Amino acid sequence: MGRFLGIFINPAFVQYEGLDRVFDNLQSAGATAVVTHPGVARPAADGKGGRFPPLHTDGYNRVLGRELWGKRELHLQTFRAFDPDPALYADTAYAPTARPVPDDMDREVPARIIAEAHKRGMQAHVQISPFQPPGVRPEDRPICVDGAPPRGPLVANVACLNSPQAHAYALAAVRDLLAHYPDADGLFMDWVEYDAYGIEGCFTCFCPHCEAAANGQGFDWARIKGDTMRLWDWLHALTPRELVRSRRVMRNPSELLERLTDAPGVAEFLRFKADTVVGFYRQVRDMLNGSGRPRRHMSARGWPPPWNRSSGMDYRRLATICDAVTPKLFTFDYCALPRWYGQTLLDWNPDLPQAAILDALVEWMNLPDDIENRSFAHYNIPAPGERHPAKLESYRARIEEVAAQIEGRARCLPFAHAYLPEPQWEEMLALLRDSPADGIWVQMYGYLSDTKLDILRRVWRTEAG
Ligand SMILES: [Zn+2]
Repeated sequence: MGRFLGIFINPAFVQYEGLDRVFDNLQSAGATAVVTHPGVARPAADGKGGRFPPLHTDGYNRVLGRELWGKRELHLQTFRAFDPDPALYADTAYAPTARPVPDDMDREVPARIIAEAHKRGMQAHVQISPFQPPGVRPEDRPICVDGAPPRGPLVANVACLNSPQAHAYALAAVRDLLAHYPDADGLFMDWVEYDAYGIEGCFTCFCPHCEAAANGQGFDWARIKGDTMRLWDWLHALTPRELVRSRRVMRNPSELLERLTDAPGVAEFLRFKADTVVGFYRQVRDMLNGSGRPRRHMSARGWPPPWNRSSGMDYRRLATICDAVTPKLFTFDYCALPRWYGQTLLDWNPDLPQAAILDALVEWMNLPDDIENRSFAHYNIPAPGERHPAKLESYRARIEEVAAQIEGRARCLPFAHAYLPEPQWEEMLALLRDSPADGIWVQMYGYLSDTKLDILRRVWRTEAG
């Protein structure tokens, strides 16, 4: 078997293309593992159900690489493929949605995916977003340092990781999932981290649950809040000169250290967020170990550097708990981040030129491009054939950083997103193949056109260049 190659399959593609065709394609591409989620879907009229692929705020340009029910973008009505066990949720304020799968739909598709993967000698993992309980209560929503919920772009409605009720729901949801898919080899959890899609997300979470958790763990919450508020205030009073200075700080670790020494609460805040994420992973690990079956794999899937500092995905420590760390290389989202962050900075500082804001943001985020006279119009979720502006070399640096942090204690398996133009998909695969990564996961089958499957087959199996 070749180097690790895992592919995410949305069960809808198996419903549409059939199990044999999907797995023949995966096998011919050299896949050694799959991951799926426990849902089935059917097309819905526009305006009903959810847009697929999801918009991610304003990603109207993003469409699938393979047809689904004859379309490249559509609305889907989705159903949980198994009946939740209500007893598991008895002690939480949240109850899983009980929407029965219609009789004419095959609810066994996720289980069939797992069985077929095993038949073909592949691993089969399952994925869940445990901190997205139905109808997040206002008291469980993340809160910004200024005391309000984030107003910036919200890609998903996620509960605060420190909310006791959301936390209890999340553990129950993982237990429920694994009870229904006992043959799954491993677990992926999505969104078990703080939001980093917008600048306000980076200033979460200051909810009462987080305050109580931080105080309980011995953090100096007053200092964390005070220093973070100073950073928030600084971002509300930016000048072109300050932006230039901030870019110098990013290139000069000594100056960055000086800033952090002056505001240690900011570093403590990042540490607190990482402790929250690592703490949840540790609880799930303990749960898996106590489940009475041979060791199940767990993967840490989250933001790559530099956003993982703020999201709490501390890969160095997660590598001691998880079997693999899988930083997401979702370049299509990162194409829009300079605008999403930049719009907030412009709202706060209306006199700043867009170009000065963007020049700073692409440097802060390590998203170098060749664009001159930058404006917000350059930073969108790209159309299918449109080149992604950030130079792909910057992703090599992210992988090298994570690989150095984990030092072989877990496998480094970045999650490559196939929504890239074909030439860049080929460049990305070659970059990953020649990187210190132990293998890759690919998001997802639905973006792998037949041409992109061919590229995957050809590039990934080639010896390192
Ligand atoms: Zn919170």
